[in-house]
Amino acid sequence: MTTLRLVLGDQLHIGHSWFSEAQEDVLYVMMEIRSETDYAHHHIQKIVAFFAAMRAFSKALKEQGHNVHYIELDAPENQQTITGNINTLIKEHAATRFEYMLPDEYRVDQELKTLCQHIDIDSSAVESEHFLTTRNELKDFFKGKKTYLMESFYRNMRKTYDILMEGDKPVTGRWNYDAENRKKLKQKDNIVSPKLFSKDVSELVDLIEAEGIKTIGRINRVAFIWPTTREESLELLDFFVEQCLPSFGRFQDAMTDRGWSLYHSRLSFSINVKLLHPLEVVERVVESWQGGREDVDLAQVEGFVRQIIGWREYMRGVYWAHMPSYAKMNTLSHTTPLPSFYWDANTKMACMKQAIHQSLEHAYAHHIQRLMVTGNFALLLGCDPDEVDAWYLGIYIDALEWVEITNTRGMSQFADGGIVGTKPYVSSANYINKMSDHCKGCQYDHKARHGAKSCPFNALYWEFFIRHREAFAHNPRIGMAYRHIDKMSDDEQQAIVERAAYIREHRDTL
Ligand code: FAD
Ligand code: SF4
Repeated sequence: MTTLRLVLGDQLHIGHSWFSEAQEDVLYVMMEIRSETDYAHHHIQKIVAFFAAMRAFSKALKEQGHNVHYIELDAPENQQTITGNINTLIKEHAATRFEYMLPDEYRVDQELKTLCQHIDIDSSAVESEHFLTTRNELKDFFKGKKTYLMESFYRNMRKTYDILMEGDKPVTGRWNYDAENRKKLKQKDNIVSPKLFSKDVSELVDLIEAEGIKTIGRINRVAFIWPTTREESLELLDFFVEQCLPSFGRFQDAMTDRGWSLYHSRLSFSINVKLLHPLEVVERVVESWQGGREDVDLAQVEGFVRQIIGWREYMRGVYWAHMPSYAKMNTLSHTTPLPSFYWDANTKMACMKQAIHQSLEHAYAHHIQRLMVTGNFALLLGCDPDEVDAWYLGIYIDALEWVEITNTRGMSQFADGGIVGTKPYVSSANYINKMSDHCKGCQYDHKARHGAKSCPFNALYWEFFIRHREAFAHNPRIGMAYRHIDKMSDDEQQAIVERAAYIREHRDTL
């Protein structure tokens, strides 16, 4: 009587009730498979991080007395798909039952449902016990609404989990400190050096290369920087709370040539693969502030809490409310190919160079770089959301479809027509110059709207609104832009449209 229990690569949750006691008749199955390595062109560091974390987790389970069958990528018996491997193992172990934790991705959910329909043993799925909401909770919360307002969902989460609350009111009476979280870094502001691990992952890199997996980005094979165990993830959490939290909120939207992660936590990989539970992360941060630290104020703490119990849960809810149709949405009918410099950082645009270069180097860019630099540019250019999605899904260490696609297609590209955001996140060079030091050293002129030296963001920004007048002219949040355009002379508008056309045509050489 053997029960097979599948543990996916992003289900490394040691606190899950499955693992509370070792059972003789249960065999946990983990696998490194080509269907996962090949559904996008992943960053080499992303594949290494997943395999390293999975191998360490399997070892930890064995040490706790659990039976684990771990299939390595090059194992001769590896069928390279979940279905193939589970079918083989059912026969091999004469299994009488198959169980799995609900996966986070629609693609895998479908595969597992189909698998269960075709096997002739009992099967069942259990919650992953990771998220703070169920798959359909957000859909029910916004029943009948076209737009899902994150702020109302977030306030409800604060109340439900009693986080930063006094009775049913927010502590200090304010829900949101967003307005205080928009400071630019000054030259005198010291930047914390990121906490980096330094692990030899040569064996995994050799394996990935030998198997011919197509990857992007670079890796230091003898000094791998990302946490891949629960212990390391907790160390990074400690580092964040001690070193970064005091300035997290204040400089949340800041960008600079001087650093690649600033005061951000870089915990997204650890949280997404469930080495850390979102609630333990939030509690650790709130407790640190409640402990009376003088260097941390509520604006920093609330800014962080909002990302985890607000945006993260919200994006997951949007995903399950709208998949599979969400993955095809292209409301603005954008079809321009993504410029080639997204793959090699070979561009004169200083802000884009920084964001893309560090993404290739570290498989990481912080939120505002993803949203207001690379995402903003792709949207203004009118890039095909399929291509934009493929890039974000491949390049970032934390990229899993449920959180990547809602952020990319929804928040960043407005391809969902306004389910996630009530207006597109677009800006000219003005915003980038306000929030960063990139423009100072750039070959383009951040003030000019047209002309050979003019910043490409500028003409594209105004042309975006001209081109999409029908879609946005009646949006009250965008009225200002149209009033501004209508005051421009015909010649000015013409020059902008021509410059935008030139940029689009020469997009690979900017
Ligand atoms: P911090 O700035 O330290 O924030 C703390 C935590 O809050 C993060 O670790 C994350 O768990 C959560 N968080 C913050 N913002 C968001 C958000 N918008 N949605 C969901 N969770 C959030 N995040 C991913 O985890 N995977 C992705 O594939 C992904 N793709 C993105 C694509 C685009 C175009 C954009 C604009 C954002 C994307 N994000 C994604 C959200 C966000 O940018 C990352 O979670 C964050 O940059 C991770 O770095 P960090 O851990 O240092 O975050
Ligand atoms: Fe980016 Fe334009 Fe500023 Fe250059 S001038 S850094 S391209 S916003």
